[in-house]
Amino acid sequence: MRNYNQLKHYINGEWVESTGSETEPVINPATEEKLGEISLGTQEDLDKAVSAAKAAFPSFSQTSKEERIEMLERIVEEYEKRKDELIEVMTDELGSPLTVSENVHYKMGRAHFAQAAESLRNFSFTEDRGGHTIVKDTVGVSGLITPWNFPTNQASTKIASAFAAGSPVVLKPAELTPYAAIILTEIFDAAGVPKGAFNLVNGSGSVIGNRISSHPDIDFVSFTGSAGVGQKIMENASETITNVALELGGKSPLVVLEDADLTTAAKSAVNHIAMNSGQVCSAATRILVPSSIKEDFEQEVKNVLPEFPVGDPRGGNYVGPLVAQKQWDRVQSYIEKGIEEGATLLAGGTGEPEGLDTGFYAKPTIFTDVKNDMVIAQEEIFGPVMSIISYDTVDEAIDISNDVFYGLAGYVIGKDRDKVRKVATNIRAGRIGVNNADLDFSAPFGGYKQSGIGREWGDYGIEEYLETKAIMGLPE
Ligand code: NDP
Repeated sequence: MRNYNQLKHYINGEWVESTGSETEPVINPATEEKLGEISLGTQEDLDKAVSAAKAAFPSFSQTSKEERIEMLERIVEEYEKRKDELIEVMTDELGSPLTVSENVHYKMGRAHFAQAAESLRNFSFTEDRGGHTIVKDTVGVSGLITPWNFPTNQASTKIASAFAAGSPVVLKPAELTPYAAIILTEIFDAAGVPKGAFNLVNGSGSVIGNRISSHPDIDFVSFTGSAGVGQKIMENASETITNVALELGGKSPLVVLEDADLTTAAKSAVNHIAMNSGQVCSAATRILVPSSIKEDFEQEVKNVLPEFPVGDPRGGNYVGPLVAQKQWDRVQSYIEKGIEEGATLLAGGTGEPEGLDTGFYAKPTIFTDVKNDMVIAQEEIFGPVMSIISYDTVDEAIDISNDVFYGLAGYVIGKDRDKVRKVATNIRAGRIGVNNADLDFSAPFGGYKQSGIGREWGDYGIEEYLETKAIMGLPE
């Protein structure tokens, strides 16, 4: 068993004591036992980390593309060496089932570093446009604030893009799941990331996160989390006109077409709320089904539900606990709200699943007869809760899909090519999945509307950490 105690921050290439004395316990959500503690960093700790990053900027930003590709490749090698620990950590701090820890969390984290190296190979930092030259310059020091739902993925996509662009970073991971970032830090150290190019300060959003978004020496802030905090970050950053990228979640639709294979559609719909216990920003949580096949679809959802067992993440189950008591309470209140609003409960409901009194387990809950203006159809629940909404025409399905403040993702399942294409191209969201298409790490990820600003992953992700300079009259 890994020793989870790491009370130090990582600043300027070394682990250093916190200047504060406050600590925070980290809880295993499956057992409710304490895994360990982290230090709650202070503003002084954060300021030291920013100074280290600022000092590293002149040399790190001038490293060659080849040097950065080699560095990213060394990171992938070191990452692979830590595979078993990364899987264990995802299960211990997040409650992710072991298979999900390996096939989703471990793999996604690795994929972003490998992809950044690949994207960098074909990336051009200068473009001669006849009369002038365009130069893509590193943005400066980047401040990264990450959430708890995909600890390896969320940190890796930001760090990989920043490193590819030559931007030194300061990372603050979520207090609920800090250990994946601690292992990532050890990986960067082993991979020889230059001093000051990577800095980790643990602590609260209100102290460290707040300071990152208002620090005068931070040139770019990349945040993933709730819309409310995203708004505060934008407000803070506006004081110094600092650029921000925000990934703020969603309320994504899955449009099932009339000719869809119902078992495939039902499994896909349930998987969206089951995978990572539904704590997924891009999950489809509004399932749009033609009225003509609604009852058959409901029956199929009930049939496939037992294929997604809830329980001990080390016990071969597919759905683990929610991350924390706070998240469990939030999910319960939405389930109560759905019942109060008059949606029909097809499966699940409030309370713990039978026999799971310890751990923050929620019942996979399926609501049907949901109207799109209900709270459960409009707000991000971030738990295993599905809303089935019926429609009569494809145009109506598109209207319902778009009648929400969010626009992170959308999905469509069906055979008719014209209808599939119509739905895919008309949903106002940043990423559309057609017929359970595989993830592509070179494709951009990010949202329309209140789902955020900017794009991550691959070459689009690298662009976020660059400024554009136009030079007139540059000598050959
Ligand atoms: P938050 O938005 O509060 O947390 C995300 C990150 O922001 C954490 O590192 C957090 O730190 C930090 N943070 C909190 N307050 C501030 C602040 N004032 N300034 C800067 N950083 C701050 O998400 P929650 O954990 O509260 O989750 C609530 C809901 O947010 C979820 O139910 C879900 O709907 C949504 N969410 C969306 C995610 C997505 O992927 N888009 C991911 C996570 C949540 P710390 O927690 O350590 O204090």
